[in-house]
Amino acid sequence: MIIKPRGTSDILPKDTPVWQKTEKTAREVAELYGCGEIRFPTFEATELFARGVGDTTDVVQKEMYTFEDKDGRSMTLRPEGTACVVRSVIENGLAGEAMPLKLYYFTSCFRYEKPAAGRYREFYQFGTEQFGADTPAADASVISMADTLIKRLGIKNVTLRMNSIGCRSCRPAYREALVAYFTDKKDQLCDTCRERLKTNPMRILDCKSPVCQAVAADAPKVTDYLCENCRTHNDTLLSLLSKMGIEYTPDPGIVRGLDYYTKTVFEFTAPIGLDPKTGEEKYLTICAGGRYDGLVEEIGGPKLPGIGFAAGMDRLIAAMKHSSQDVPTQPAPQIYIAPLGEAASTEAQKIVYDLRMSGIRAESDVVGRSLKSQMKYADKIGAAYTVIIGDNEIGTGRAILKNMKTSEQTEIEIGSIALILSKEGL
Ligand code: ATP
Ligand code: MG
Repeated sequence: MIIKPRGTSDILPKDTPVWQKTEKTAREVAELYGCGEIRFPTFEATELFARGVGDTTDVVQKEMYTFEDKDGRSMTLRPEGTACVVRSVIENGLAGEAMPLKLYYFTSCFRYEKPAAGRYREFYQFGTEQFGADTPAADASVISMADTLIKRLGIKNVTLRMNSIGCRSCRPAYREALVAYFTDKKDQLCDTCRERLKTNPMRILDCKSPVCQAVAADAPKVTDYLCENCRTHNDTLLSLLSKMGIEYTPDPGIVRGLDYYTKTVFEFTAPIGLDPKTGEEKYLTICAGGRYDGLVEEIGGPKLPGIGFAAGMDRLIAAMKHSSQDVPTQPAPQIYIAPLGEAASTEAQKIVYDLRMSGIRAESDVVGRSLKSQMKYADKIGAAYTVIIGDNEIGTGRAILKNMKTSEQTEIEIGSIALILSKEGL
């Protein structure tokens, strides 16, 4: 048997309704916030991610699916959406449009990670990227968009963590302070973090290893190193969020280890299920984002500020399921037409076609079942109504409509089924 690659998933019809609901809600929220949808390729030149994600990040160093195409060019399956959107904005001249430019996307992402609950090698994101506004109000709007989505999905026990990681003028001093702090404790760090100390010390704060997390707990706080401009930006943003009634927790441990991230960074965490070993709730980041005022230039575009977030669809859905028992299902057929005999069978195919053309979810027999097993089947698929059609019904054009829930039977005209069912509002 051929099985799917590790860390990928098949999303089956019993699960797709919850995906569809989440996608629909995300799309509605994106439209509420004035965003237009953008779609982009599944693979891009590797260089885009090296520059756009940052070549000292885990994603670029360890997690990318990179391959050579037949012409020997290095290509990579997108590990995230931001770099792709920025590339597309530059290439298509969207930077010349009215600002702010507000975009949203759904995308699958590919990262060679160690698979675990909520961590896959192919996963899905919903995201927004917004350009041309560098004010705290723009940040508040993007963060409130994520907040609206999470609230509309009914996810409970969510925490929004806020931080500012400063800008090119205040970051160097902070970097030095971090290097000084961690150099002393180098021996306690994991191998990756020892490397990070040289290349990207801020990323140590983001390490998942409990030992590194313990060492990082007393590290210098970035918020003590912010320049006047970054501090004012952050203070204004936090007071805007308070004014909107969006609760947050300041967390100087939230970092985005990219050079082009500036000022605002944030994460929403929520329980995505129970840990099978301990039985305790497992919390993960369901949505993360930040401001990247240097990124468009870094990828070869004009000077253009930007801010965005990406929400992990897989994790949003796990958190939603954990928060509520009320999981959507595929809509059941409104009617099952059960033919009796050959002539009726032909007629039934025509009736279901007409009903479907009128927007009614109708089913009939295509297997060759007996009447008895057709009725069993109609019950199994949850058809709201059934109609049995034999030679007699074809002759008179009238038949008995049976409500499967109440067993109530009504004689009706076959030609008016669509009308009757539309009135039922099923
Ligand atoms: P983490 O710290 O959990 O590894 P990240 O910082 O690598 O996350 P981002 O690049 O910020 O994640 O991606 C945005 C969101 O995408 C995350 O908050 C998460 O919800 C989701 N996500 C990231 N990696 C995975 C994965 N391997 N499987 C499922 N969802 C993921
Ligand atoms: Mg990661």
